[in-house]
Amino acid sequence: MDVSQNLAEIKAEIEVACRKSNRNPDDITIIAVTKYVTIDRTEEAVNAGILNLGENRQEGFIEKYNHFGNHVSWHFIGSLQTRKVKDIIDKVDYIHSLDRLSLAKEINKRASAVVNCFLQVNVSGEESKHGIQPEEVIPFIEKLADYTNIRIVGLMTMAPHSADKMLLHKVFRELRELRDKVKQENYQQAPCEFLSMGMSNDFDIAVIEGATHIRIGSKLVGSNM
Ligand SMILES: *Cc1c(COP(=O)(O)O)cnc(C)c1O
Repeated sequence: MDVSQNLAEIKAEIEVACRKSNRNPDDITIIAVTKYVTIDRTEEAVNAGILNLGENRQEGFIEKYNHFGNHVSWHFIGSLQTRKVKDIIDKVDYIHSLDRLSLAKEINKRASAVVNCFLQVNVSGEESKHGIQPEEVIPFIEKLADYTNIRIVGLMTMAPHSADKMLLHKVFRELRELRDKVKQENYQQAPCEFLSMGMSNDFDIAVIEGATHIRIGSKLVGSNM
């Protein structure tokens, strides 16, 4: 399937979800997750009008970055090893996977300008998932007050692999409620307006629950092209 056709289908689904939840589709950023695909296939996505690319590994990110440069916005979505921060930090536009203070410290130290970060939260409580616990979010953000190179622009989560729609709604709703709580505090270091949630199998539910950034790989660009 070509990317533009996939994109049209995804946009149609977003519109339906927006109608159900009284939202504006313009408020939703589609991030094409290109971790499974080649530069050629990624090029197809860019030609189809995708302006945001997501990679989850430093090697894959650098390879794509060297090709596309700053024609697109770059989202680092995978777990990030502290020692690799310096290689990517001045190239990425958003980090979606901030999940520990040692990582924040390294980002703050290595960045030459403010870095937009999403705090990754383990809402579902699955042990296999990265992310801080929901009740740790506010204390974590308070510890970032002196980290002047870090701005928490939103929260991110990965839902469980599940066909249980009620459960998915619940996970995404919990992240939204947590975002609202943080936003209310008006922390200077954490405007926390955004919600990065929803992937190929659950983005429609995430949009209904308030996602502002959806991260779509297999359904948009495929999983081995
Ligand atoms: C791979 C990945 C995605 C995209 O997954 P699909 O199911 O292929 O859409 C989204 N977010 C993260 C963090 C990922 O690692």
